[in-house]
Parts: sequence; structure tokens; C-alpha cells
Amino acid sequence: MFKVAIDGPSGAGKSTISKVIAGRLGFTYIDTGAMYRAAALFCVRKCVDIKNEPEKATELVKSITIDLKNSENGTIVFLNGENVTDLIRTPEISLGASNVSAIPEVRVVLVEKQREMGNRVNVIMDGRDIGTCVLPDADVKIFLTASSEARAKRRYAELCEKGEKVTFDEVLADMKKRDHNDSTRKASPLKPAEDSITIDTTELDFNESVNVIYNTICERLEK
Ligand code: C5P
Repeated sequence: MFKVAIDGPSGAGKSTISKVIAGRLGFTYIDTGAMYRAAALFCVRKCVDIKNEPEKATELVKSITIDLKNSENGTIVFLNGENVTDLIRTPEISLGASNVSAIPEVRVVLVEKQREMGNRVNVIMDGRDIGTCVLPDADVKIFLTASSEARAKRRYAELCEKGEKVTFDEVLADMKKRDHNDSTRKASPLKPAEDSITIDTTELDFNESVNVIYNTICERLEK
């Protein structure tokens, strides 16, 4: 199986870019962030305070099933069989996912599932720890990044398009908070794998970013 790991901070474009490239190559795209988001949604629904009740959150995460299905409109996320694709994209769940992902036992449960998925088919998997932890044997490892302002600008445009009532400053502050959480947590902090290729998209538009990454993967595929 051919495995591509794409890691990087929130809003670097990992999922949109990965989706397009997976489509071009006929690979399966696996959005691991969506799994942490679904886990967070379940904890919020059960009124568990994720930060202060990590054992309860872990028990809940062990009890759920999360399925990802690729469709023409992107990944459809199922939590215990319910389609929660839109429900997991709110700012509240973004922060919840960041908190739930800092619980080491939660990571063990979800990483195992991600590895199983990654070993079955050719994949492009995106997240924070794919190259360092989930698929350390990945054939290509990319660390995709951009300045926090550029990332917040893109996320703000996305949220506005969906009709969410947020300000740019709120989005930027949320992004910086998540960057801080993700890179300072003890369990699998966000960092480039030693053998990863860093691609900075601050100055690149969407198509340029897709092409740079697509070409990087194709070079390895041809070897
Ligand atoms: O990628 P996305 O922003 O949807 O991920 C939501 C949150 O899940 C991230 O802020 C991060 O804290 C966490 N995450 C993680 N490891 C992954 C994927 C996501 O810790 N592999």
C-alpha cells in the first residue's frame, strides 16, 4: 500500500488539498481531525467537561463508532451511525476536539483505528501526528504550514461563506489557541517528522499548493 502523511497546523489547507489529490490519484482520503471532532461532539452531548473529566471522556470515546465515507462532496462523518458532518465544524467543537485530542488514552483508541484504515488501501491521511506516530512508515510525509494570519484569513472566509457569525479577530485568536494547544501538549505534539518535507503555503494560492504537493507525491510514486 502507498501511504501519504500530511501534517500541519489548523487551517493550512490540509484537508481541501488532500481531498483533491486523493481524487486525482484514486487514493482514499482519511481526515483524522474529523474523528477527534466526532469524539468531542459526543462528549459535549453527554455534558462531559473534557478538560476536567478526561477519564469520563475516554470511556465515552471507547464506546462510540466513528465511520468516514468519501463522497463527491467530501468526507461524510458518522457518529454511531448518525451523519454529523456539519455538526462537527463549529468553533465550539473545534476547541473540544483540540481538548479531547490532548488526552493520551483517547489518542491510543483513535490512532489504532487510523492505522487499521491506513493499512487497507492506498491513502492520503491528514492530521497532526500522522508522519510521527500513526504512519511512521509512510512513503511520503509532508508538513504543510502557513503563517497564522494567512490561515485565519482562509478559515474566516470559509466560516463567512457558511453564514457563521464570527469576526476575523475571533478566528485568529482561536487559531493561535489551537496552535498552542496542539504544539505544547504532551501526547504527540504537532511537529514535523524528521523525514518530512515542509511546504509553506503562505504565498501560494490553492492550485499552486495542490500542484507542489501532487508533484512531490508523484516523484516518490515513480521511484
Ligand atoms: O484537522 P482539524 O482541525 O479538523 O482537527 C481538529 C483537532 O483535532 C485539532 O485541533 C487537533 O487538536 C486534533 N487532531 C489531532 N491529531 C490529529 C488530527 C487532529 O490532535 N491527527
